[in-house]
Amino acid sequence: MVNETPAPYRLPDVRTGNGYDVHRLVPGDFVTLCGVEIPHDQRLDGHSDADVGLHALTDALLATCAAGDIGDHFPPSDPQWRGAASDMFLAHAVTIVREAGGVIMNVDVTLIAEEPKIGPHRLEMRQSLARILGISVDRCSVKATTNETIGFIGRREGIAAIATATVVLGEPA
Ligand code: MG
Repeated sequence: MVNETPAPYRLPDVRTGNGYDVHRLVPGDFVTLCGVEIPHDQRLDGHSDADVGLHALTDALLATCAAGDIGDHFPPSDPQWRGAASDMFLAHAVTIVREAGGVIMNVDVTLIAEEPKIGPHRLEMRQSLARILGISVDRCSVKATTNETIGFIGRREGIAAIATATVVLGEPA
């Protein structure tokens, strides 16, 4: 890592990454969001468990190290990721950050869905993120909004997620 500022004036190497994901809703029994299964009359369709929250956050974490995106690390064309639980993708991103000498400071996930209601599951989602990331729950934010019935999200055709992660990089491990 290049940090040529003289030591007394050296600033923390603070990195921010963002991520976005969307998956289609199809008839089903539950959706998995931020690692939490929520009973619903639809499910998210995708190669893995289609957890948009964890996918967006995986991209955000990878971005703090400019380490590409989730598709680079887990190609959808690879059959071994079929039906995979997405906490594995996020844990892989955590490993990459750690190997770069990074410490995860906080993460923030916004889920965009008409249904199901996220509020009753928010704390469990934050706890799920904290467990996977190995940081405290107070550093894991989960928010939700509807799309005001507009567009594909409004028509309940899909759920989207936006995520932000902040990492402080030190010396590589
Ligand atoms: Mg995805």
